[in-house]
Amino acid sequence: MKIMKQAFKDPRVPYALMILFLSIVASFINAAVAHDPITLASCIILGSSLSVLLVAVLRGLSIFKLAQIAMYLGLAHLSVTTWLDGGIYSLKNQWMYVLMVTQYYVISSRQGFLWLVLVIIALLFQTWFGLHAPPAWPQMQGADRAIMSFADFLVPTIAIFMVHRFFQYQYTQALALSQQRQRELQAKQAELEHTLQMREHFIASVSHELRTPMNAILGLNGLLLDRVKNKPQAEKVLAYTRQSADHLMTVINDVLDYSQFVSGQLTARVERFELQATVMAAFELFKPRIESTKLRYACQIDDDVPQWVDTDRHRLMQVLVNLLGNAIKFTHHGSVCLRVQAVEGGVKFSVQDSGIGIAAEQQQKIFERFSQAQPDIQAQYGGSGLGLTISLRLVQMLQGRMGLDSQAGMGSTFWFWLPLRNQAAPVGRQSIAEPAHTNEAQHLRFLVVDDHPVNRLLVKQVLQQHWPDCEVDECENGAKAMDALQTGLPYDLMLIDMVMPVMDGIETLQWVRHADAVQIRALPVLGLTANVSEPDLLRFQQAGLNGLLLKPFDLERMRSEVQRLVLQRSTRV
Ligand code: ADP
Repeated sequence: MKIMKQAFKDPRVPYALMILFLSIVASFINAAVAHDPITLASCIILGSSLSVLLVAVLRGLSIFKLAQIAMYLGLAHLSVTTWLDGGIYSLKNQWMYVLMVTQYYVISSRQGFLWLVLVIIALLFQTWFGLHAPPAWPQMQGADRAIMSFADFLVPTIAIFMVHRFFQYQYTQALALSQQRQRELQAKQAELEHTLQMREHFIASVSHELRTPMNAILGLNGLLLDRVKNKPQAEKVLAYTRQSADHLMTVINDVLDYSQFVSGQLTARVERFELQATVMAAFELFKPRIESTKLRYACQIDDDVPQWVDTDRHRLMQVLVNLLGNAIKFTHHGSVCLRVQAVEGGVKFSVQDSGIGIAAEQQQKIFERFSQAQPDIQAQYGGSGLGLTISLRLVQMLQGRMGLDSQAGMGSTFWFWLPLRNQAAPVGRQSIAEPAHTNEAQHLRFLVVDDHPVNRLLVKQVLQQHWPDCEVDECENGAKAMDALQTGLPYDLMLIDMVMPVMDGIETLQWVRHADAVQIRALPVLGLTANVSEPDLLRFQQAGLNGLLLKPFDLERMRSEVQRLVLQRSTRV
């Protein structure tokens, strides 16, 4: 049984067995109807020999040996029977096909051709014999019939081969062509992947390079604004600078977000936060801009809107800022209102304006990338046409939906709905309405690690403005930070950049978390980075960060983060 299974592993075996079986049956039928003893004997010898072979195959005889033995047996039998049956005139010559076709399909095309030659030689010999038959030979047909008979056998014989060869040739050609195409496609795909990688790398590094100086520009601008409170002229200049820098930042973020969406890299970072505070922060952001217009600017948050929610706070803020920014940009008279309602088990945010509106046929188009409602919008209002595309995708990423109601000249209402439910307030977190404070006169020690002197200066200024008695040490890379941490008094907080020469933020943090001295190991660390690649940020956080701010960071946010971390430390100590 086992041997039989083994024998059937070769896919050609069933085919060979079938031919063998048919040949055995044919041999015995021939024997039964044979008129003369020579044919009878030959048929019985052939049928018996083939039967032995059949058993041998089932017991493991190789297909090659089977074909060879069977063919020679067949040829011998055919030679005898055709000899008796009229040589070239005999219809038994059709069996010759079986000889070579079997070789061709079961063994190899080379063997098939070899047998074709053998068959042709046999037929030629028979033809010659038919033409020059000895007197004893029963000349049944004329000489011309011998040649015709030869042709009758030869043409189908060759046709059987040629048809198959022709299709095999076509198949081989098609296969070669498709393999060639596949190789070309694979090369193209590799090239495309390389280009995509290069593009991502390029966008990431350009974004990093742009964010780093923007951090300094926006940060220092904020510090200066605080200091020129009583000088309206200077305040105005700084406010304009701030507006332009903010605008530039929006463009940089939009391009980066869009490219991250395209490469599927953008993912939601869910956190628990107070919804009302975030909505108000987005709303308040435009207050300075509204002051220079005559627009009525209002925000209405219904009482039943959840207080604490779980979603990506930063992305929610981004969508709100985009819709409010658009509403203010495209409204010259009247009002811009932000409304937040608890609807259908989630929260609906609507931004209604009385601005220029959008014609019905343009409404679908504006959600497409780089699309604006009218060709002259770009010249009149500026913009990249990416804001709504990104907002829509962000809302979808947060499992929500977005839409608009608008009429040309009658204002617009852009709305989005998010599946936000009321969550429990996180343990140990207070409402932003009543923040905890550190003692501002406290003598705190900070270590600022950043390779850009302007960024170090900015952080130092922010810290010193809030904690005038604090001490701030600066290092330009992680290696120097290691020295500073090992010598001198302990620090209350380290603020560290991620990308730095010599030793970067991640390596430094890993060293800190595995340091021998417990006061180094337990040091709170706030990461500050212009790198926005999700995998890099994750590595940075996993190295042991206590907080992370993306550059350009909001000065107020930085103060509150520092406060939180310092407070945590002092309650632990
Ligand atoms: P951008 O404003 O940068 O051009 P957006 O994707 O944010 O890109 O907006 C696409 C277009 O949609 C705008 O150019 C404008 O034609 C139209 N649009 C968006 N918001 C409003 C609005 N509140 N009122 C009128 N048109 C708007």
